[in-house]
Amino acid sequence: MCIFCQIVNKEIPKDFTFEDETLVAFKDINPKAPVHLLIVAKKHIESVITIKEGDRNLIAEMVWRAKLLAEEKGLDKTGYKLIFHCGRGGGQIIDHIHLHLRGGWK
Ligand code: 5GP
Ligand code: ZN
Repeated sequence: MCIFCQIVNKEIPKDFTFEDETLVAFKDINPKAPVHLLIVAKKHIESVITIKEGDRNLIAEMVWRAKLLAEEKGLDKTGYKLIFHCGRGGGQIIDHIHLHLRGGWK
């Protein structure tokens, strides 16, 4: 099972910043910004490259949740980045769909 499936299934202990029936969010282990969260689908889908039309709502949920978490962390005051790495050439290392929320720079 992939590492993010193990985290989602709570086989690896992790403090979730957020959880609902479709998503979890937690801190990136190797942060690239003062605030760096990963918004991770509970369903195992590899990448934006392989999403199907039926996953459109899931993607919308991920972006919506990122926006709300950004507001919770006050990142909306200064701006933030939302990043999907898509495939190896797009910098993706973990083949389980996730959205990076990065911000908090002075
Ligand atoms: P990718 O390059 O695939 O978009 O991003 C994977 C991200 O997951 C990286 O930023 C990496 O630091 C993070 N990461 C990898 N393994 C773990 C882990 O076990 N726990 C957490 N919290 N983050 C992880
Ligand atoms: Zn997975």
